[in-house]
Amino acid sequence: MGVHPHSASAEARVRGAIDRLRATGHRRTIGRRLVLQTLAEADGHLAAADVHGRLVDAHPTLNLSTVHRTLVTLADSGLIHVLAQPGQARYGLADQPHHHAVCAGCGRTSEVPAADLADLLPRLEEATGLVLAPGLTLTGYCPDCSTNRG
Ligand SMILES: [Zn+2]
Ligand SMILES: [Zn+2]
Repeated sequence: MGVHPHSASAEARVRGAIDRLRATGHRRTIGRRLVLQTLAEADGHLAAADVHGRLVDAHPTLNLSTVHRTLVTLADSGLIHVLAQPGQARYGLADQPHHHAVCAGCGRTSEVPAADLADLLPRLEEATGLVLAPGLTLTGYCPDCSTNRG
């Protein structure tokens, strides 16, 4: 399949995140760079174990507790954000306002750019009386889970 449609923007997001890491006075350790890169390339949100799983083959010395600590540090500095879910916390980049589309079966979480729902929000706000902000959670079943549900 040629070039991954998200690769260019993933690269830009990693660069932006690393610039901000430096701007907030954090050292750009290899671990932090790898974690940011993994989250950008995932085009979604990952649990610590997922991040570790994607890195461990190429970086066997990187252990899960380091990945976890790194995620917490990055979240504290505002570069990524935590999505508390039943089960395990998932982490995503915090560089773009977005909503979340979450599979109720496996917890797979994708980003929905806030701009994609911009037209819809005023109508929802009118209907609900709520002032809505990025961070809405849309729930459904991913292709794998809807197949398995039969
Ligand atoms: Zn998110
Ligand atoms: Zn699923």
